[in-house]
Amino acid sequence: AKGNGKSGWRRYQSDLHTAMVQRLEMRTALHEAIEEEQFVLQYQPIVELADQRITGVEALVRWQHPSRGLLGPFFFVEAAEESGAIVGIGSWVLREALRQFARWRAENPETTLRYVSVNVSARQFRTADFADQVRRALTDTGARAQWLLLEITESLVLRDAEKVLADLEELRAMGVRIAIDDFGTGYSSLSYLRQMPVDVVKLDKSFIDDILTSRQQHALVDAIVTLSHNLDLAVVAEGIEEVGQRAALDAMGCRYGQGYHFAKPLWPADIPELTVAVEEP
Ligand code: C2E
Ligand code: CA
Ligand code: CA
Ligand code: CA
Repeated sequence: AKGNGKSGWRRYQSDLHTAMVQRLEMRTALHEAIEEEQFVLQYQPIVELADQRITGVEALVRWQHPSRGLLGPFFFVEAAEESGAIVGIGSWVLREALRQFARWRAENPETTLRYVSVNVSARQFRTADFADQVRRALTDTGARAQWLLLEITESLVLRDAEKVLADLEELRAMGVRIAIDDFGTGYSSLSYLRQMPVDVVKLDKSFIDDILTSRQQHALVDAIVTLSHNLDLAVVAEGIEEVGQRAALDAMGCRYGQGYHFAKPLWPADIPELTVAVEEP
């Protein structure tokens, strides 16, 4: 037993060592990736449920890893949050998304695209001059504040309320809109949201998944949509995969949706052809 304990301890130490080395390697790799511009963005359409017209796109980051190929956020966002690399990545994402969006607007004045949605991590939002960073990014890219929707999470709003509130107010005064992402997965309630300077609620996929199979879930989503509208918040339903879900949400009066049913995240080159206003036959 003693021998076992000892080898168990050794194994523990070596696991710990491996984890530390891996963390360090990841940290270095992420910083290199920023410098070598290995991050790329895909864009997922956000549509009007009534006619499926694309009104916005959400920018989603990927890592074009030199040996491991294209990696989704699952493989690196958490590590980037922990190491702080997310601040640099996020700042790149913001600028790149605005630059791309300004180009789409310039190349296609008839576009139905009204905004680009950008995810902001709590760590990035808490940097001292976040609102200024956004202002500079808008100026440098020639994008209008009205084209930008920033997606933040409930937990950010709940912690550090004062500084966060001041920044949100400043951003909204500039004309930038704010969305609460993954709504329903945290602890905030709609009555709390009423006091927050936000414009859009993104209903988490986990809420949408069961609306066709559970009457309770259907009723809950219905109530959230109604309440949000009464609070002057627009609602985007996330993770719509089936036509039935789209129909149910549309019937509830939910105006916007996003999900594989409409489109997966796409490369920038595939967006313009989807967003040209088409004449009805
Ligand atoms: P999110 O912000 O909730 O983004 C939506 C995620 O759901 C995306 O995954 C999208 O591809 C996926 N999705 C969309 N529709 C469907 C659907 O119908 N079914 C299913 N199963 N999934 C759907 P992705 O691109 O892997 O991103 C995962 C998460 O990584 C994002 O969740 C977001 O929290 C984070 N993330 C992505 N880009 C950024 C970024 O630039 N900055 C930060 N801080 N986080 C990011
Ligand atoms: Ca999001
Ligand atoms: Ca989300
Ligand atoms: Ca999510």
